[in-house]
Amino acid sequence: MRATTYKCDRCGEDIKYPDEQVWNIAVGIACEPDVVAHSIYSNCGAAQWCRSCTEEFRLVPRSPKLPGLPEPPPKFEDLVREIVREEIQDERKE
Ligand SMILES: [Zn+2]
Repeated sequence: MRATTYKCDRCGEDIKYPDEQVWNIAVGIACEPDVVAHSIYSNCGAAQWCRSCTEEFRLVPRSPKLPGLPEPPPKFEDLVREIVREEIQDERKE
């Protein structure tokens, strides 16, 4: 299977398609009673956002939290920051 990595135009996170969703974000207009929405949507006019950003702006419903799934492990960078933070706090106590 062919995989493509996109970059979210909003947050900059990598989106690994097709494992993760890529959302094309564009502006659309419609005049009453016109039922056809005219959107400014083309390859050059749409932004591509990750699922998290579309959920944050409530453009799509939040993904349900599936029971039984373990929490993702912390990132290496977060672990290093936590260790440094603890070391600094210990330094200050002494
Ligand atoms: Zn994003």
